[in-house]
Amino acid sequence: IYLDHAASTVVRPAVRAELARWLTDEVGNPSSSHAAGRALRTAVEEARERVATALGAHPQDVVFTSGGTEADNLAVKGLVWAGLARGRRHVVTTAVEHPAVLEPARWIAGHEGLDLSVVGVGRDGRVDVDEVLAAVRGDTALVSVMAANNELGAVNDVATIGAALRERGVPFHTDAVQAFATQDVDVAAWSVDALALSAHKFGGPAGVGIAYLRRGVPVVPLSHGGGQDRGVRSGTLAAALDAACGVAVEAAAGDRADLRDRLGALSDRLAAGLLAIDGVRRNGPDDRRRRLPSHVHVSIDGVDGEALTFALDQAGLCVSAGAACGAGAQKASPVLAATGIDGDAAIRLSLGWTSTETEVDRGIDLVTETVAKLRAVGGGAVR
Ligand code: PLP
Repeated sequence: IYLDHAASTVVRPAVRAELARWLTDEVGNPSSSHAAGRALRTAVEEARERVATALGAHPQDVVFTSGGTEADNLAVKGLVWAGLARGRRHVVTTAVEHPAVLEPARWIAGHEGLDLSVVGVGRDGRVDVDEVLAAVRGDTALVSVMAANNELGAVNDVATIGAALRERGVPFHTDAVQAFATQDVDVAAWSVDALALSAHKFGGPAGVGIAYLRRGVPVVPLSHGGGQDRGVRSGTLAAALDAACGVAVEAAAGDRADLRDRLGALSDRLAAGLLAIDGVRRNGPDDRRRRLPSHVHVSIDGVDGEALTFALDQAGLCVSAGAACGAGAQKASPVLAATGIDGDAAIRLSLGWTSTETEVDRGIDLVTETVAKLRAVGGGAVR
């Protein structure tokens, strides 16, 4: 039973078919001017248009990357370096960002001797809009605030932050990697200058993502070479992956409203089943409009989260003790540390487009049984 869709989702059949088509039937380089190259180029440009339509963007604002991590790095380092050239020496981000944002922000601040403001969050994992805006200075090169958090599913008010920053002329980036599957993502409504997506979080393959980079906003490229994609991201265009990403984006945006309702009901069912276990509390925002319908994060008294995920894995249930996106899941979660939640006894269960009631019910049974077994032997702490 797979209840870890925040880590990665199942590839949609239409995406699989698109990938297979371009990998199997076609040969060439999308930058070649001959017929073979032109066919691949057309596939990439159609994908770019699909993405642009879904985001409310212009196709030229869409840059394909190798995933969410590269898109975040490009936005953070690229915009900060561009700002630095204009004398801007300050960066604002939040304590609950994915390492794909927090690490480049820390790295570039250290490397260039810039000031970095890391805004904290409430116990629910949400960022306070006023605190973000209060941190902004006259020389702020970039503000980066995630649209939704990968562990708690907390949804931030990026539209309000974006509108205020646009008025003040401060570039704004948001990591929408977790949000895209169930939240309406519109670059104009959010007033963002940069935004990151990752296909494997919404039914596409891993290894391809999108950096939305608004034209006219200066960005320094991270890779130099053949000058593909406005010179912002050199390298041979990965036609099959980009085409597959385009299909995944279109499909995800197309069934988002239905999925939101369906997963909302399923996660209510999952949370209710887990809360029926003694000593279980749900983490993240109480207000359902402020949390992703895909995420259920719980603290469980008297068990070790790491031991529980291991025992659940043995029982056939895939969940996560924290974010699976790092190299090792053994480290204490900085996200939970920022909220004040004890990360030692917490797990994340997350749903996706293939999730069913049967899986959810089986998941509840397996957690209930496994928690009882671990508690009988003292919680299973391995630390
Ligand atoms: N940002 C967030 C919020 C994520 O959850 C992830 C997860 O992996 C990433 C960025 C990185 O994306 P990718 O795995 O495509 O590099």
